Amino acid sequence: MRISFSSMETYKQCPLKYKFKEINRLKEPKSKEAVFGTIIHATLKYMYDPALIAPGLEDALDYYSKNWNSDVYEVEAEERAAFSQGVRIIQDYYERNEIADATIVDLESRFAIEIGPDDDRHIVSGIVDRIDRTKDGYEIIDYKTGKKMPSQDQIDNNLQLSIYLLAFLKRYPKEYENLENITVSLYFLKHGQKLSSTRTVEQLEEVEQEFLDVITQINEQIYDPIVTPLCGWCGFQRECPMWRHKFKDERQIDSDEVHEMIKSYIATKSNMITERRELAVLQKNIITYMDQEGVERVFDDDGVVARSERKTYKYNEEVLRDLLEPKGLWDEVTKIDGIALKKVATALGVKEKRTIEKSKEIKSTSQSLTVKKK
Ligand code: SF4
Repeated sequence: MRISFSSMETYKQCPLKYKFKEINRLKEPKSKEAVFGTIIHATLKYMYDPALIAPGLEDALDYYSKNWNSDVYEVEAEERAAFSQGVRIIQDYYERNEIADATIVDLESRFAIEIGPDDDRHIVSGIVDRIDRTKDGYEIIDYKTGKKMPSQDQIDNNLQLSIYLLAFLKRYPKEYENLENITVSLYFLKHGQKLSSTRTVEQLEEVEQEFLDVITQINEQIYDPIVTPLCGWCGFQRECPMWRHKFKDERQIDSDEVHEMIKSYIATKSNMITERRELAVLQKNIITYMDQEGVERVFDDDGVVARSERKTYKYNEEVLRDLLEPKGLWDEVTKIDGIALKKVATALGVKEKRTIEKSKEIKSTSQSLTVKKK
């Protein structure tokens, strides 16, 4: 199988989204965020272009403005805010980085590496934003335009950085000896922060297996939807069974009857939750009253409320094992509780049943109320 890193990420985010994109070949409308990310990435590539004499801030902003894409914005204010955010990112980048000091090895470097056992090879492809030569080794950098910053732990285990490093090492195998001096970094442009890490040979070996696991699932055609906040950015909501109904008005499919049915279900369900809470409070108060009066039942014109006590027991595992193992019944008791023991009790004699009874202790007690209506 040939698969790009981003397709694999899509599968991990939501297998159904992967199916829409890669199997059904449906076109996903470009999101504002994706278009914004593309422009920022292109500007950064321009800033580091080795064919140019390190462009200054004004040049970079000029490039950014000329390549700005307003097609995805319907609201002018929204477009203005996004454009300004891009300007801020570029200004901040210039404040924090000396563009001319970087020794660029490659920009938007394409890779395709083979993974898997000899008789079942797969190709993973992708694009690395930037590779720099550093004092002792190299730095592999990927730019992020999203808002969310991960923890250092997530960076240390980030799959994307690991696969980028693997791709780099396929190209420069000698650098395996210098692994501790190869840094992998994610640059979070909206925060102006770069988080870096390194990898060991063992970690890189595990990464390959992680990829193979995903490939196995794709080959098994497992395409279940996974609803997460990321659905908000998914362009397939109108096709997705988890969201399609939300667009019913566009398709004019629902009758008033269906509308009423859903509305009434939601109302009933929320009433049930409220009532359950009210019931718990009433039960507590009635039990307190019963304790005060020293009674087990209370009477009213509508009926009688009676209290009952429920006990749960725990059994002495050692005693049970000694008793059941010789009879070959121990394996049948996967969980030690009254229900499981009842099942095996038919094979036991009176004395043995008594031993089990003696081995049990009360684990917890709870009270409940039953109602008998007049
Ligand atoms: S809307 Fe959510 S659940 Fe549906 S395909 Fe997209 S990501 Fe998956």
